[in-house]
Amino acid sequence: MKPAPVAYRRPESLDEALADLAELGDRARPLAGGQSLVPLLALRLAQPEVLVGLERVAELRGADLDGDRLEIRAMTREAELERSAALPPLLGAALGHVGHFQIRSRGTVGGSLAHMDPAAEWPALALLLDATLTVASARRGRRRLPAASFILGPLTTALEPDELLEAVTMARPDGRFGFAEVERRSGDFALVGAGCHRGRVVVFAAGPRPQRLPGVEAFLRDGGAPGPELQRRAHAEIEARDDLHASAAYRRQVGARLVDQVVAAAS
Ligand SMILES: Cc1cc2nc3c(=O)[nH]c(=O)nc-3n(C[C@H](O)[C@H](O)[C@H](O)COP(=O)(O)OP(=O)(O)OC[C@H]3O[C@@H](n4cnc5c(N)ncnc54)[C@H](O)[C@@H]3O)c2cc1C
Repeated sequence: MKPAPVAYRRPESLDEALADLAELGDRARPLAGGQSLVPLLALRLAQPEVLVGLERVAELRGADLDGDRLEIRAMTREAELERSAALPPLLGAALGHVGHFQIRSRGTVGGSLAHMDPAAEWPALALLLDATLTVASARRGRRRLPAASFILGPLTTALEPDELLEAVTMARPDGRFGFAEVERRSGDFALVGAGCHRGRVVVFAAGPRPQRLPGVEAFLRDGGAPGPELQRRAHAEIEARDDLHASAAYRRQVGARLVDQVVAAAS
């Protein structure tokens, strides 16, 4: 199948991009790296009248990775981050699981967060690191949302059609961490994954969105340690779904083992 005919605009600034979206509303879609949107267009699962290409919007590019607070602007490509010596090891470990290098050389951090594939690493990282997402629109200005409010469900976020995700900010993740996932082949989306950092525990690719495990976190705060009891609690808490790739039972069982593993690595 080929995409339906679509017009293309290429704004040169953030204001211009926001003005395009304010004018066009849900007749337009922003285009970042195209790694998810272009396949959707080709399958005609998305049929916008206009694509608003963000490639030339300088305000959306680049990342500040040196201080205690990291800011990654939306159009930063995953491969650009990987090349940075200042990239915290936790982000590097997760990025290594995002598709193949060719995908990461086009795919952007903002595109991944805005797309919100339940199996994607960036939404899981945003939740794990309690990130703040800055979104902007021409009419309402800026709003800042915690990851837990931005992520609503599969392919669904709090973004309105006239809004752009501008940047994601988070405290620098340092110290010990665990991040692990099971994928059928290297470069595939995860069948199930887990991360642990500073007492927070997140599972992703199991249910409709990445999920924190408050029961497991409380167990750890009370002095609990990796082992059968932690796995039992994780198993009970993980929201899992069946699909073509794996059953909910598999995801819960393997997810609980991964949680044990990432908690042990972070301890
Ligand atoms: C073969 C393959 C394997 C992959 N494997 C993985 C994987 O293992 N893990 C993983 O996490 N990802 C994976 N991906 C996805 C990829 O890594 C990208 O992160 C993802 O495609 C989205 O980034 P993009 O820049 O390409 O966004 P696009 O495809 O351009 O856009 C995606 C969506 O976000 C919207 N959007 C983009 N930028 C903004 C913005 N600034 N503000 C508001 N809305 C915006 C678009 O309108 C669109 O709806 C894979 C992709 C492919 C093709």
